[in-house]
Amino acid sequence: MQKEIHRRLRALPAVHEVISRLEDETEFRPFMTNERCLPRLTHCVRQVLQSARETISQNHTDSFEEFEATLWPGLLSELFLRLTRAESSLRRVINATGVVLHTNCGRALLAPEVARFVADQGERYSNLELNIETGERGSRYAHVEELLCRLTGAEAAMVVNNNAAAVLLMMNTFAQGKEVIVSRGELVEVGGSFRIPEVLKAGGAKLVEVGATNKTWLKDYEAVIGPDTALLLKVHTSNYRVEGFTHAVSGSELVELGEKHDVPVMEDLGSGSFFDGTNLGFPPEPTIKQTVKAGLSLVSFSGDKLLGGPQAGIIVGKRVFVEKLRKNQLTRALRVDKLTLAALEGTLRLYENGGIEDIPVWRMLSVPLDKLHKVASELVMALQLNPKIFAELQEDVSQVGGGAWPTAELPTWVCAVRPKQGSIIELETFLRLGPVAILSRIHKDWVLIDVRTLLNGDSEEIVRRLGEWDR
Ligand SMILES: *Cc1c(COP(=O)(O)O)cnc(C)c1O
Repeated sequence: MQKEIHRRLRALPAVHEVISRLEDETEFRPFMTNERCLPRLTHCVRQVLQSARETISQNHTDSFEEFEATLWPGLLSELFLRLTRAESSLRRVINATGVVLHTNCGRALLAPEVARFVADQGERYSNLELNIETGERGSRYAHVEELLCRLTGAEAAMVVNNNAAAVLLMMNTFAQGKEVIVSRGELVEVGGSFRIPEVLKAGGAKLVEVGATNKTWLKDYEAVIGPDTALLLKVHTSNYRVEGFTHAVSGSELVELGEKHDVPVMEDLGSGSFFDGTNLGFPPEPTIKQTVKAGLSLVSFSGDKLLGGPQAGIIVGKRVFVEKLRKNQLTRALRVDKLTLAALEGTLRLYENGGIEDIPVWRMLSVPLDKLHKVASELVMALQLNPKIFAELQEDVSQVGGGAWPTAELPTWVCAVRPKQGSIIELETFLRLGPVAILSRIHKDWVLIDVRTLLNGDSEEIVRRLGEWDR
């Protein structure tokens, strides 16, 4: 056995041998146009040879002659796959998980016309910080401020890098060295180590917790509000739900208390939404407009959660407070770039001129069940022609993702597949490592393809990839 392994290892070509043999292979020409291609090519060849060495030292039921005959074609196809994949690090992924706001896959998708607007703004000069009428310097935030005010009913608005930055900026501007009162039921961790207590500390504020995990009353805030109180902070518990014996104080009650003591009230709304999801069967949650109406000084929310736009932290509220934010030095460090602003402006315009159908996130959340059934059935039928796998239609549930509506279950139809030879784990990996990565979900003895999050052409790519399964 050991002898056989050594014999096979010796049969592997050296890196330079592979590279010189590649010159006769026409499909490799695009990867070797000049000597600048060489480092990447060498790197990929090394990786392929290393993985071949690992395979050799594991198992072989075939004869040496068979091994030798398949060696070169095998190395070539593996190398080709790696080279195409290595074209860029950021690559397209087919999201067949049914998680609409998939954090690992880039959260919200932009509408095609918004993406085109972003590309256009990237390629050309723009009036990013130019007032065209006067020829003088303008504000980059002006491009979205009016739109945000119209859509939310707020007096003023600004935008930073993400909602975490928005909360940090609010704390740093208004509560540095002072106290911020937060309910114990709202000390949220958002993930990626963003925790409200930590953010307050980073902003230089001192946290004063009130109430209990499940119940907080207005009198709890009243008991601690005093001369050192900089603000009352409400945090929307968008990624979990406390159910049963609970009580929370509403934004408008807090605003009333704040006014009595001359203390501003701010809210981190998390995944704020312009649409009311109850029409689609989601649990009731206040829209951004309803939250603003309660009279809070500032409200912040994410751009790439239920809003369905780019990563951004949007802050809306009373003009005097927004002005103070603008003057904070941190704002410069947290500012958004022109591509984000273009994506945000484009998305906000869709809200003004269009409907649910125009925002990809909302289109996916609201696809009728019979349409999902149709797409999944067609995929199952196409896959049933594949002799190497089993495919069947199953009912399942998709998720919103991104920490929004955590308890919501969206009924969906999935195409469930299973290999006739080999394991479902191998099949899942095979889908993920194809020329276009296909992300699926394993459940019980099946690999599930949820059609809710598929885009045009994805089904065909899935059928094509599974056609290459050769066990
Ligand atoms: C998601 C979320 C954040 C962080 O928002 P990002 O835009 O991801 O930075 C902050 N607070 C709450 C309540 C959230 O749900």
